[in-house]
Amino acid sequence: MAEHVLLAEELTKDYAAGIVAVHALRGASLTVAPGEMVAIMGPSGSGKTTLLNLLGCVDLPSNGRYWLDGRDVSSLHDSALSRIRNERIGFVFQTFNLLPRLSALDNVRLPLLYAHARVPHDAPVRALERVGLSDRMHHRPNQLSGGQQQRVAIARALVMDPAVILADEPTGNLDSRSGEEIILLFQELNREGATILIVTHDLKVAKHASRIVQMRDGRITSDEPVTDRLDARDVLAEMPAPEVEPAEEAEA
Ligand code: ADP
Ligand code: MG
Repeated sequence: MAEHVLLAEELTKDYAAGIVAVHALRGASLTVAPGEMVAIMGPSGSGKTTLLNLLGCVDLPSNGRYWLDGRDVSSLHDSALSRIRNERIGFVFQTFNLLPRLSALDNVRLPLLYAHARVPHDAPVRALERVGLSDRMHHRPNQLSGGQQQRVAIARALVMDPAVILADEPTGNLDSRSGEEIILLFQELNREGATILIVTHDLKVAKHASRIVQMRDGRITSDEPVTDRLDARDVLAEMPAPEVEPAEEAEA
């Protein structure tokens, strides 16, 4: 494995918005080592999603260079870029982004349809087992709670065994307990060796990471290790128990 999972040098991104250009990123440099869990914070509009999209090979920078797992991806063309994105990046979004008509299992199988790499045929089932949903594989998203839907999305992110998991406000649509359970899952995956980047504007969420990167106006303004790191197991233990237990069986 490369010394850095991610190595970004002076990334810039300009968007044309009518006749003016928006400088969404103004030179962001970042390195992430294997096994780190990094939180990216900053006010709305500071460039967090833009940076995540560049790191996740969704988009190319206007300037600067970027290596993923030792490979220079900043000059790749669309098809090579989308292949790398599918096989090396696991994305998790605030709104889960599951296909509503597909079962949990079929949602997790989707990345395999586009894969050139060989993936063990039981990888989707194993990924759903890993996130604690072995009894919900054939449910559709609307038959699952928000927290369960996010678990399906995390299973989909894991199924290709990516170099890095990139999560954009993954707890933004969840109640505090479900959100904390999702952060617990990320911490467990991180302890097992996964490299994870989480965008959040919630300092409490960020303090579960090993390092916090702050952004403002398209620049990284600070990058510090977390000295008082929170353990989601402790946070959950201190939360009041949910008043109503979630229903055992979702409606069909
Ligand atoms: P954040 O995720 O921190 O809220 P974004 O990365 O989404 O910030 O946006 C950074 C800046 O770039 C904002 O000013 C935003 O309006 C602008 N921007 C983002 N995406 C586009 C786009 N596709 N076209 C034009 N401007 C964009
Ligand atoms: Mg954003």
